[in-house]
Order: sequence, then C-alpha cells, then structure tokens
Amino acid sequence: MTPAYFQAIVDSSDDAIVGKTLDGIVTSWNRGAETIFGYTAQEMLGQSLLILFPQDRLDEERFILKRMMEGERIDHFETVRIRKDGKQVHVSVSISPIRNAQGVIIGASKVARDITPLKMEQERLKLALDATCNGLWDWDLRTGRVYRSDHYYAITGHDAGEDDHSLDFFWRTVHSQDVPNARQAMADHIAGRSDRIEFEYRLVSKTGQMGKWIHARGQAVERDAWGTPTRIVGTLSDITPSKLFDVALRDREKRLSRVLEGSDQGYWDWNVQTNYFQVSARWESMLGYAPGEMDVSTDHWAELVHPDDFPSALQSIERHLRGETASHEAEMRVRTKTGEWKWILTRGKVVEYDADGMPLMMSGTHTDISERKVLEQAQREALTVFANSYEGIMVVDVQRLILRVNPAFTRITGYQPEEVLGKSPGILSSGRQNERFYRDMWHSIESTGFWSGEIWNRRKNGEIYAQILSISQVTDGQGRLQHYVGLFSDISQIKAHEEELDRVAHYDPLTGTPNRRLLGDRLAQAIARTDRSVLSLAVCYLDLDGFKGINDRFGHVTGDKLLVGVAESLKAVLRSEDTLARLGGDEFVLLLADIESPEECSLILERILLAANVLLNIDDNMVRVSASIGVTLYPQDSSDADTLMRHADQAMYLAKEAGKNRFHLFDPESDRKAQEHREFVERLTGALQQQEFCLYYQPKIDLLTGEVQGVEALLRWQHPERGLLRPAAFLPHVQGTRLERPLGIWVMQAALAQMQLWLSQGHVVKVSINVSATHLLSAEFIDDLREALAMYPEILPASLELEVLETTAIDDITLASFVLDQCRSMGVNLALDDFGTGYSSLTYLRKLPFEVLKIDQSFVRDMLRDAEDLGIVEGVIRLASAFHRSVIAEGVETMEHGAALLKLGCRMAQGYGIARPMRPEAYLDWIKTWKTQAAWLAIRNV
Ligand code: C2E
Ligand code: CA
Ligand code: CA
Repeated sequence: MTPAYFQAIVDSSDDAIVGKTLDGIVTSWNRGAETIFGYTAQEMLGQSLLILFPQDRLDEERFILKRMMEGERIDHFETVRIRKDGKQVHVSVSISPIRNAQGVIIGASKVARDITPLKMEQERLKLALDATCNGLWDWDLRTGRVYRSDHYYAITGHDAGEDDHSLDFFWRTVHSQDVPNARQAMADHIAGRSDRIEFEYRLVSKTGQMGKWIHARGQAVERDAWGTPTRIVGTLSDITPSKLFDVALRDREKRLSRVLEGSDQGYWDWNVQTNYFQVSARWESMLGYAPGEMDVSTDHWAELVHPDDFPSALQSIERHLRGETASHEAEMRVRTKTGEWKWILTRGKVVEYDADGMPLMMSGTHTDISERKVLEQAQREALTVFANSYEGIMVVDVQRLILRVNPAFTRITGYQPEEVLGKSPGILSSGRQNERFYRDMWHSIESTGFWSGEIWNRRKNGEIYAQILSISQVTDGQGRLQHYVGLFSDISQIKAHEEELDRVAHYDPLTGTPNRRLLGDRLAQAIARTDRSVLSLAVCYLDLDGFKGINDRFGHVTGDKLLVGVAESLKAVLRSEDTLARLGGDEFVLLLADIESPEECSLILERILLAANVLLNIDDNMVRVSASIGVTLYPQDSSDADTLMRHADQAMYLAKEAGKNRFHLFDPESDRKAQEHREFVERLTGALQQQEFCLYYQPKIDLLTGEVQGVEALLRWQHPERGLLRPAAFLPHVQGTRLERPLGIWVMQAALAQMQLWLSQGHVVKVSINVSATHLLSAEFIDDLREALAMYPEILPASLELEVLETTAIDDITLASFVLDQCRSMGVNLALDDFGTGYSSLTYLRKLPFEVLKIDQSFVRDMLRDAEDLGIVEGVIRLASAFHRSVIAEGVETMEHGAALLKLGCRMAQGYGIARPMRPEAYLDWIKTWKTQAAWLAIRNV
C-alpha cells in the first residue's frame, strides 16, 4: 500500500483518525477528526490531545497510556470528549500502539466514532423507562455482565453496592419456588421458543424475607451470527398490590366457587376507588372466553354492554353506591367473544367501606338469563301471532272443548269467542266428512301428535267453506298432554281458483266445452270403456260449412256467438255419456259412446246435422250454417286415439268434397287402398329418379305404299322385380298425382333424345308421344314442351306429334283450344287418340286443331265381325275426310284388318299385325326387313 493511497482512505473516512506521541501530542488529524471535534488540523497538530478530555475523565489518558505501553489494543471504548464549541460528544474509540522500524512503541493511533445520537437515544429510552418506575436491566450474555438501573435497586430494595453485576445477584433475590419458572422463561427465550421473557416471582429481600411480587419482562436486542441472543434488555415492576388482591380474590373465589358453580353464576369484584375489576372464570366462560383470557377493566366492561342496556345498568350501580338501594340489579345484553349478545342478570352489593365510610369494594354475580329472555320473547311473539295471525287458531283442552280462539277464528267462522268457548269444535263441521274421517283424524293426532289436511266446515251463516287445518298436540316437559292447537286457513278462494285453473286448462273458454287436452283424456277413457264392451265408439270430426264466410261478413263477435249457439244446440241433442269438444275455430269433435250399429250411428249423426243446421238470430242477423262430419267407428277401425282422430278428419274432408252438410263414414278398406296408392306413388317417384322408365316404339305405316310414317312412343317400366310393366300396371296410380308432370316431361325429353340419336344415324323418324290431359291443361305444359324442344334444336317440331286422349281429354274446351293452338303454333302436330270413345267427338273435331284422328282399337278389332263397329270405323273415316283431317287406325292385328281399312279409305295403320312396340335399338333393323315382308305386299294385291 502506498502512503498516498493510505492517506486517501484516512482522508475520506467519517471516523476521526488521529495519531499521537506517547506524551499525547497530536501527530496527524484527518477530516473526520475535524468534523467530530470541531478543531482543524492546523489547530491540533503539535497540540496535546488532552484539550479534548472532560475534567472528570482525565485519568482515562493514564489508563490508555498504560495499555499502549503494554502493546495492547483498546477496542470500542465508549467515552465522552469535549468539542471545540464546548459541547459533549460521545465517541466509541479504538486505539492501537504505533511502533517504529525497530518495533519500539512511539505513539498511538486513535480511531474515534461519533456515537452521540446513539447515546441520546439510549438516554431517552432510559428516561422513559425510569418515568414508568420500572427497573431496568441489561444483560450481556457474552460477558455475563448485567447492568441494573437505579429503579431496579429501588424496587428490589437491594443496594447498588452489593451488585457484582452478575446474574447470580438476581438469583439470590428470587424465591426458591419461583426459580424454576423464571429459568424456564429465560431458557425458552434464549432457545428461540418464545418472543420474550416474562415471569412473576416473589422477591427475597435484603433481610432474606419474601415480600414483594415482581413482574419481570425482557427481550433480546442483539444476537450473534447464529441468531442466539447476545444481549437481553428488560424491566422489573412491582405488582404486589394487584397480586395480593388477586390472591385474596382467588382464595375467596375458591371458597365461593363451589356455591357459585352450583348456581352457574359468574362472580365479580370491583374496587370502586381504584377501579380495579376482577372476575371469576365462570364470568368469562359465560361470555365464551377461556378463564383468564379477558383483560377486564371497567372501561372494557362498559364496551361489552349493549348500548341500550348500559345506561340503566350504570344508573342502578350509581344509585346503590349512593346508598339509595340495598343492592344493585340489572338485566343487560353483554357481548360474547363471538360478537353475539347474551342476556345477563347482574347483581351486586358494596362489601367493603374505607375508613371514611366510602364504598371500597363491590362484589356481585352474573347470571345467564338468555334462555328465559328467549322464552319471554317467544311468549310475547306467540301472543302477537295469536292475536294477529291471518290463520284461525283454536286451543282445545284435553276434553276436546274449545279453550281459546283468536280474532281470525271469528273472522273465518263468524263465531264470537263467547259463542264457542267451552263447546266442541264439532259445531264448525259441515257434515261433509263422515264419522270415519274424524275417527282417522283423531287417531292420527293421538298416535303422531299431529294431523293436517283439507276439510269442509260451515260458517255461522251456514256457508260451507274449505279450509286447510292442522292440529297439534301440546305437551308439557314430561310429555303429558296439555291441550290441542288447531290452525286453519280459509282456502275457499284457493279452491275456487283451483277450479278456475282447471277450467282454463281443460275447457274452451268460448263455448265451455272440453278443449283438446280434456278431449285427449276423454277419448282414452272412451276407448278403454269400449274395449270392455261389445258396443262401438263413434269418433266424429265436425267442421262448420261456410263459417269463414260468416266470420268475414259479420265479424268475429258474431262468429263467436254463432259458435256458442251451435255448441249449445249440439249439446242439447247429445246424451250424457257423449262428449262434445271444441278444438278451435269451427272444428268440433264428438265422442258418441255405446253405439250398437252403424245404422244407429247414422241416426244420431242425422240428428246432429240437424242440430248444427240451426238458424240463429245474432244481432239481428239471421245466420245459418251447416256442418260436415267425418266419423270413424272404434273398434271396427281399431286404430289408436291419434289415428282415430285423423281418420275422422279425413272422412270429414270427404264429406265436404261430397257436397257438405253431410257425414261420411270412414272406410278402413278404402283407407287401406289409399295408403297403398300413396306407397305406390312413392315407389314410382323413386323409379323416375332411378331411370327405371323407358320408351318402346311402335311403327305406323302407309298401307298402300308400305312406307313407315313414324312411331308411337309407349311408356314402359323396367321394374327391378316384376320385369317390364305396361302402362296399365302403373299409369292409373300416376293420374291426379304430383308425379304426372315430371313423368310427362321425362317422356317428351326421352322421345326427343331418341329422335336426336336416330338423326345422328341418318334417320329422320317422326315420333308421337302420349300426353296426359292433366299435364296438357296445366299452366306449365307449353313451357315444358318449349323447353324440351329447345334442348334439341336439330329436331323439327313438325316431326313430333302429341296424342291426346279423347275420353279424358277435355273438360275445359276454351283452355284446351288455347293450349293446343300454342302447340300448333310451335309446329307440333296433334292427334286425337281413341277417337270414337268419347261423347263430344264432333265438338272437339270442330273446335280443336287436331290433324289426325286415331280410330280406337276397340272398333278396329271387331270391325270384321261386328257390323256396328264397322259402321263406326266407316263413319270416322268419312268424318275425317269431311273435316280434312287424316285418320289412322290402331290395333291392326291382322292383314285382313289392314285390307279392310284400306278399302274404307284409311291408309294409315298401327298394330301388332304390322309390328309390336319395340326397343328403339331394334327399330332400324325392323325397317330394313319390313319392306320385304309378304304381309303388306299381300294387301296391295287385294
Ligand atoms: P294408346 O295410346 O291407345 O296406345 C296403344 C296401345 O295399344 C298400346 O298399349 C299398344 O301397345 C297397344 N296396341 C298396339 N297395337 C295393338 C294391337 O294390335 N292389339 C292390341 N290388343 N293392342 C295393341 P300400351 O303400350 O299398353 O299403352 C296403353 C296406353 O297407355 C296407351 O294407349 C296410352 O293411352 C297410354 N300410354 C302409353 N304410353 C304413354 C305415355 O308415354 N304417356 C301417357 N300419358 N300415356 C301413355
Ligand atoms: Ca296413343
Ligand atoms: Ca289408342
């Protein structure tokens, strides 16, 4: 270390670092020294250090010098020096000898630290402790030295002179019985088992006598690196007065405790003059504290008492202390440890007076009266309840006679108390319950102590009302019957409300007849009853005819009145076992029970129709409606309830369709067929989607030349299981269903596609397709046709022909002519199929734009044997030529037919005799072989 570096440390230190010769002359003086002592280096260098020493500490220098000469260090020596300004400064000084190169001690270096603030703090503390009259002790565990303050000696009565500053001095002053306890307290704290040292002991005085009670406290203020206390500071205080009092009290309590425990009372003692308050263990435990847990003082006591009760308690004490009362007594709520209030009865009395005759000690008891208070409260409440209860209350004695009744009893029953007291509750009974009921009731009360139920009673004015009644037995602590208490409330309104609810839930608010919900119950019951009998049940669905019109014309109010009127009229003709229900709107359902035969059912229904057909005068409007009824008979129709309703509904629609104001009996057989039909249509729809349909083609030829004129497309169903099906097997099911149009479109497009295929193979083939009347006359037909043609622009519309059946053809001739004209204008040809079978052939012919008439095959078939048919064929041919239409014969089965037709002037023919309908692939081959066949050549030769 260089001297410069050393100098830097010395200069920067806050501690005073001072060097001096053995005779006390200052040789170095740093900045720290200047600050602490107030002298500059110039002032001090060469000066004697003694100017810093207070008068009374001058001999310290001698002591220091001695140590230096012995080559010893002095560490942390606390002392006082005087600053330049004359003020005291507390310093902690460490001094080391300075040796020359030869090792001879030539001076000393002093390091002094200013500990004035620390000292002042300690002084303040001491002062504060002294002010409390506590004795102070300060135990250095390293040296074993104990410092004791003046108060310490004052309290213990030992002289400071006897004190050798060891712990032994202390032990000598402790009563031998209290030594173990004190040792334990110290050991616990030193070992870290307690936060502080605290114990009481009996002091052994200078004369060896036990006198005072001392309370000692202490706490570690310094610890070594291992946390073990190295210094403990504590106090002593004289607790003799309270201790003696306490011991006396304990003795007294001990004597009293047996008595007190028996009475379960707490005990308190109060020094009126010192305000010292003592309580017994029970006093504390009564409030939920452990004995000794409470720190009781009068102020604290005041806080424990409920603010509402405190003034009167205090007043009672004051009056007693003034001698106005023989004893103090107050009831008050006192706060328990858990914060609740407990009712306490406190009683007390002055037990000691001082020399001047002033009250000194007051003692008393605490009694827990919570239970009594609760009981009193309950009693008060019960009385209030009894008087104000909305429920009627009656107390009945053991003889079952009325003992007391409350105002609600009078309100509900109408009887004044004096009218019923001493009488049997039987005077209230309505007679609605039988003797058995009361027997069971009393039995329940006697065996279980309780009964509750609904009961009908009679008011004084005779009115019968429903009440909920509960009866309880009241017994005393020993279980002996005291009396009965009956509690009841008038529930007639609730009853009425219940009924109202039931009505709303189950009855139609307008007509008062059962609603759909109740009907469900009734129907289920009726079915069950019918199952047990040989008779039938008729389920009828009734719908008014023309009701909507009346509603619209006269308004809903009139409509509603009409519904009510009809319902009334219907009810009048029904038997009691029948049910009339309204489902809503003008829809009713009737359940007619015990029907012997369909005939009987018809008779009843006729009567019902008549009843529904009433002429009603509603607000000066004469209104009449009729009804359509659908009926199904159970068990002939052995369906479930829902299905029965549906069947009746279906039948009702048939009655409507059949012209209204009638009934229609559901026929399970026709329903089965309808069901099958529906399933079949489903199947057909699938077939269309699955491409199971195909077209066969049957040629049409010119009998004269043998030329093939075209083909008729005929629909086939390639059924996966049943094989190839002809139209007769399935077309009837398509008629009138939503399938007609898609199937018609499919035929159009399939035929056009085939024509396109033939065209691509170099053949122009004219194709006629059969069109269903429904599709033809539908709004979409023209569009469907146009669309189909547009898909095949290479096909001339003229090579397509539509065959329309005459029979089914045409109801609406105006519409038909419109549609057909459109077809014509598109260039499509039209043929009237099965000509001669219809009725208005001539009209059609005149008004509709058909180019071709197809003579029905039935005439052609028999023309060779049946003159009449021949005549028809002849007639048709002539008619055609008269109207400039061409004619074709179908069903030409033999060449004889062909020859005969040719003779009559019909050149065109189609039939098995020429060719059977064939698959399109076979058609071109067929043409090739056709011309060489002998058959048609034979005709030419005829
Ligand atoms: P239709 O329009 O009168 O068709 C002629 C029917 O006579 C065809 O029966 C055909 O196979 C049959 N036939 C042809 N030559 C002879 C013969 O020499 N002797 C006998 N006994 N019968 C002959 P098919 O194919 O069973 O068709 C029955 C009916 O079904 C058709 O009568 C037609 O009204 C209808 N139909 C066929 N295809 C369609 C179609 O695609 N759409 C519509 N809406 N109806 C069609
Ligand atoms: Ca046809
Ligand atoms: Ca035909």
